[in-house]
Amino acid sequence: MEYKEGELIKEDGHWMWYHVCPVEKTDMFVGKGEECSWCGAEPPLHIIRNTKDVQQYLKDMKQENAHAKIQV
Ligand SMILES: [Zn+2]
Repeated sequence: MEYKEGELIKEDGHWMWYHVCPVEKTDMFVGKGEECSWCGAEPPLHIIRNTKDVQQYLKDMKQENAHAKIQV
């Protein structure tokens, strides 16, 4: 299965976003609202906004991570 940079998936109720890291030179899934611990990349919000699950994503973010910097 192929993913695009920034693509969101929800697995076992946990949001993750797909990231191809230029520093680590590998691909990985990063937890919701978290930045890449290698290069500091943040979830690309323009892609999140285009997903049909964006509203649920933001709702989950607010509930589970009050310190998230996500702003709509
Ligand atoms: Zn990275």
